[in-house]
Amino acid sequence: MGSLRMIFLLSLFAMASQAGLRSQPHEISLTSPSRPQGPIPQPRPLLLHPARTFDGQAMHEGWAVLVEGNRITAAGPLAALSVPAGAEAIELPGHTLMPGLIEGHSHLLLYPYNQANWNDQVLKESNELRAIRGAVHAEKNLLAGFTTVRELGTEGAGYADVALKQAIEQGIIPGPRLIVSGRAIVATGSYGPKGFKPDFDVPLGAEPADGDALIRVVRDQIGKGADFIKVYADYRWGPDGEARPTFLQEELELMVRTARSSGRGVVAHASTAEGMRRATLAGVETIEHGDGGTAEVFHLMKEKGVALCPTLAAGDAILRYRGWDGSPETEPERIKQKKQSFKLALESGVTILAGGDVGVFEHGENVRELELMVEYGMQPLEVLRAATAVNAEAFHLPELGRIREGFLADIIAVEGNPEDDISSLRKVRLVMKDGVLYRKL
Ligand SMILES: [Zn+2]
Repeated sequence: MGSLRMIFLLSLFAMASQAGLRSQPHEISLTSPSRPQGPIPQPRPLLLHPARTFDGQAMHEGWAVLVEGNRITAAGPLAALSVPAGAEAIELPGHTLMPGLIEGHSHLLLYPYNQANWNDQVLKESNELRAIRGAVHAEKNLLAGFTTVRELGTEGAGYADVALKQAIEQGIIPGPRLIVSGRAIVATGSYGPKGFKPDFDVPLGAEPADGDALIRVVRDQIGKGADFIKVYADYRWGPDGEARPTFLQEELELMVRTARSSGRGVVAHASTAEGMRRATLAGVETIEHGDGGTAEVFHLMKEKGVALCPTLAAGDAILRYRGWDGSPETEPERIKQKKQSFKLALESGVTILAGGDVGVFEHGENVRELELMVEYGMQPLEVLRAATAVNAEAFHLPELGRIREGFLADIIAVEGNPEDDISSLRKVRLVMKDGVLYRKL
């Protein structure tokens, strides 16, 4: 019995060291070695010939792109490509070819608050119902050209995001590549749903933990499938219901250290300058929202290499749900402030990601965020970079976000030129993920 146990332990150890060798620290694994086979790319090489190609960095007229299996094997001027015999050509006149878009901030388990408010979604709908909705939302993201989605918390639906990721990888449902955070972590007493008799243990939209227990909770979430850890560095729990910091500096640092030793990063919801400052100093990778960001905080973020995910579309949507018609004459104070802080962020040179908090507004309408980034003053080419190469780098996806030889074949084609009119991104005519076509003209 003793020797059997020793053999078992030794083989466990061997498996663990192999796994350690296999995984690059801090890069997201896009396929698990044991997964059942998902959809298979078509066997013939594909030659995509659009009017122009955005490669993740710049716009190129007259390029063509060759795809073999699930990889891009060549990209450049058509005359310079050696096209293998038997390749199938797809002509895309008037279209722009570009890397599959990457949604930087999504909640597949949520849907617009004007259809059902957040409290009701969290408290009244079963996780099963929410997961089925999530599957529909996943397909909408993919067909809208978002071939990768970073999930920022299930808001009370347990690990349904991990299940969605598995269902997509196994080819059970169509959907984008997912990077998921699971339940997310909040400080006790800070998060909702709120307003119940204290005797009730109300199911919360995230997992509460404090102090040393944060170590266990971070590890538990990792064990249950989180690719990264999301924390709420502040929340609306001030004496007058205003946003105030939640975790202490040392608590944030504890979570970052714990997650990092597993090769994972931490990202923080923060809308107050102090919450953003603490999270930045603790070593989080990205800050979500950042509405109350000051020039000083954005400069600190830039200095520490922390990126901002501004989620402009969520604030816009919520104010419209409250009755704003979108006209500049009646622009609410909160929108004016958001435009101002976004301007400060642009001026500071902090890395700006593209992520809208989709779920607060309709899945499939993800482009709304990119339109607002342009409207709030970012150059269209910078917005295109943010939604592709910049997001890919920030999310540790070294094989995505560019049209370049050797990269994974996540490619979309849109009608028109999104550099001239960002809303061209709504006219998605071709979607390819991992060499598989999900939408074709
Ligand atoms: Zn969010």
